[in-house]
Amino acid sequence: MNIDLHCHSTVSDGTLAPAEVVALAAQRGVEILALTDHDDTAGLDAARCAAVSAGIDFIAGVEISAGWRGQSVHIVGVHIDPADAQLARELASIRVGRLRRAERIAAALEAVGIRDALAGAQRFAQHASLIGRAHFARYLAEQGYAADSHAVFQRYLVPGKLGYVAHEWAQVGDAVRWIRAAGGVPILAHPGRYPFGTAVMHELLQCFKQAGGAALEVLTSAHDAGDVRRFAALAREYGLLASHGSDFHDPNHEPFGPGSIGALPPECAPVWHDWPVAQRLAEHAASAH
Ligand code: AMP
Ligand code: MN
Ligand code: MN
Ligand code: MN
Repeated sequence: MNIDLHCHSTVSDGTLAPAEVVALAAQRGVEILALTDHDDTAGLDAARCAAVSAGIDFIAGVEISAGWRGQSVHIVGVHIDPADAQLARELASIRVGRLRRAERIAAALEAVGIRDALAGAQRFAQHASLIGRAHFARYLAEQGYAADSHAVFQRYLVPGKLGYVAHEWAQVGDAVRWIRAAGGVPILAHPGRYPFGTAVMHELLQCFKQAGGAALEVLTSAHDAGDVRRFAALAREYGLLASHGSDFHDPNHEPFGPGSIGALPPECAPVWHDWPVAQRLAEHAASAH
């Protein structure tokens, strides 16, 4: 079964419009797709409409930016109700915080001689209400400060570099509770990307589980085979289900399109195991054989 529970569109820092993400996913054989833009649900209606025409099952999602020990940690929520008032209010507040952070990033870049970065980044933020480091990266790459946006990140935008500014994100436990209160399923995104030692990772997993976290993203484009094994084992240890999602952003810069990251290890209990849509597709596939 081809299911992808983590994808971005132009509503956050992806480069395809929500309907284009759905069309690409359908073309690649995805049967169940969640759109999970950073801190914004504005793409979900367009994506749902496109999914109806493409004949794939659509799940409303979001990826909330949270903080843990001074690092950013992302909580994906799927099956959320985007109309939930508390969730909508908290996401709006995170977006305001992103704008304040963007002003500070622009000031830090200005101090090293890079001018007009806020206006430049905003030009790449197609959905004006959300701005992030990826938009700065695209502007700086365009201006020739590095070969491509990934190189811009490494040179300017990661912790320790001149264009990086610390930021107070949401608390992990709060993000989990907002997703739960909006009817959603909280998933700790790409754990292999966090620069934590074993003890801090265990504390994060405990906090996530205690707050109502449901699943760990075991399979995602940032994970190598070792990460997949490690987080499959940690999911079992903490009684968490396993999720997978491509974390797709840009068809021109990523080998992993929607739906092309393979299957979870067999020992994992998938987060969709009891979703009616997944059972229906599995029965359909079984009867076709
Ligand atoms: P932000 O939430 O604005 O701090 O930006 C985080 C986003 O930037 C991630 O979701 C990725 O899309 C992107 N990103 C983070 N690190 C890198 C990197 N090293 N190279 C390229 N993109 C990155
Ligand atoms: Mn992103
Ligand atoms: Mn993320
Ligand atoms: Mn993501």
